[in-house]
Amino acid sequence: MSKTAERYDHFVDGESVASTGDERIDVVYPYDGEVWASVPAGTTADVDRAVETARAAAAEWRETSPSERRATLYGIADALDDHAEELGELETRQNGKLLREMAGQTDALGEWYRYYGSLVETARGDTVPVENKDGGLFNYVDHEPYGVVGAITPWNSPLMLTTWKLAPALAAGNAFVHKPSEQTPVSALRFAAILRDETDLPDGVYNVVTGAGETGAALAEHDGVDKLAFTGSTATGRAVGAAAGRALNPVSLELGGKSPNVILPSADLDNAINGVVKGIFAATGQTCLAGSRVLVHEAVHDEFVERFTERARSVTLGDPMAPETEMGPVAFREQWETVREYVEAGDAEGATVAYGGEQPDGTPGECFVQPTVLVDVDNGMQVAREEIFGPVASVIEVEDETDAVETANDTDYGLAAGVWTEDMRQAHRVADALEAGTVWVNEYRTLSHRSPFGGFGDSGLGRENGAEALDEYRQTKSVWIDLDGEVDDPFTLG
Ligand code: NAD
Repeated sequence: MSKTAERYDHFVDGESVASTGDERIDVVYPYDGEVWASVPAGTTADVDRAVETARAAAAEWRETSPSERRATLYGIADALDDHAEELGELETRQNGKLLREMAGQTDALGEWYRYYGSLVETARGDTVPVENKDGGLFNYVDHEPYGVVGAITPWNSPLMLTTWKLAPALAAGNAFVHKPSEQTPVSALRFAAILRDETDLPDGVYNVVTGAGETGAALAEHDGVDKLAFTGSTATGRAVGAAAGRALNPVSLELGGKSPNVILPSADLDNAINGVVKGIFAATGQTCLAGSRVLVHEAVHDEFVERFTERARSVTLGDPMAPETEMGPVAFREQWETVREYVEAGDAEGATVAYGGEQPDGTPGECFVQPTVLVDVDNGMQVAREEIFGPVASVIEVEDETDAVETANDTDYGLAAGVWTEDMRQAHRVADALEAGTVWVNEYRTLSHRSPFGGFGDSGLGRENGAEALDEYRQTKSVWIDLDGEVDDPFTLG
């Protein structure tokens, strides 16, 4: 670690607090390998302290009125707008994704807080007509927060994936303990300080404990947590889901994918190729919704492969901070090795590397890999079944629409899918048949705070974004009131 590396601590109850342990984790800029910061590897005692703080804060935060919460969330949105550039740059220094991608994300985050602030202010309960002997009962349904949310997030879009949880959780009246990824912990700590200094969110409502998997597991298993929210790999998601099951806590899981991007004969090929590039090479393929299986109809397969491979060759790799760069490094060396191992596995199983798979000449550090096109892929191969989380497109030839849909749905995952066709009847038919939480037609990788996002199958449980996400952070209470005051038969129901 360089002498000038910044030293961070946890953030609990509105202040920076040292860990009870000595172990620390380096934060590295993936572009050139510079270690520029360090954070504590949080202990169980550190997690205890943060959860206790959040419990105390939750009791007060839940009592705030919807208008007060709306005002606080709008204040968070304004503070984020003011710091969007700074936070975007911080994100890039942690995960090496393009500044234009990360600054684009941080620039948009405020909208999530405004949306959930508005939603909670306009939310209502229900009155329910109930059957009863004499018309003397009244029933209403209200919403209550769970209490303390334990959130665990990955490195690929740190503050955006935090926001998808935090904005609805705060709106619903919960307090929060956040364990960010060990690769990207600093933006959460900086965000916490901004909340303290520039908004009226009470201290202790948002707490950050840094650390790796063990710290995450301590949070997932903590008996003071009332609801878990996780984004990450399917394997870790199963462990977090199991901890939630043992504690009988609700859990939302946003997991991995192996999403199909389907190109049919009537597609506008220029648009489709652009959409496939967007789906798999943007963010160096490190997005959960990457269109990593490219299913191409035999009528356009050869032309598509030729033109797509040409585009892959021309992708500009380089400094993620530079505006002309199209693809930066992958986020850390182990991830680079994973990508290489998958390319070799594809080769061994009979796929052909049409382009890429190597560290390109002239790039610094040890995390760059070329955009990679695998052709002659069969849907049964490892490179078609497992998430690579890197810039590797597995191109699979399909015979017709039926084959395309069957192949697309032949996966354990179900996060997203794309279909490219100018035939609108076909577009609706295929969108209806694809088994995925999000389907794009003649588009890929667009999202909104207003539209629910989440997976079918092994891609997860629950939904983020949209009105649906508010319900992930609140529970209903059904209240029955006897209006007639008469003594009932105690031995019958009703
Ligand atoms: P990961 O599962 O390795 O880690 C995610 C988080 O879990 C990290 O904070 C990590 O420290 C923590 N963790 C690790 N082991 C743990 C354990 N046993 N108990 C509790 N926490 C633990 O995932 P990653 O490599 O950081 O992120 C990449 C994965 O995230 C990919 O699979 C990607 O598809 C997925 N992802 C999904 C979405 C979505 O919305 N569906 C979005 C982005 C990323």
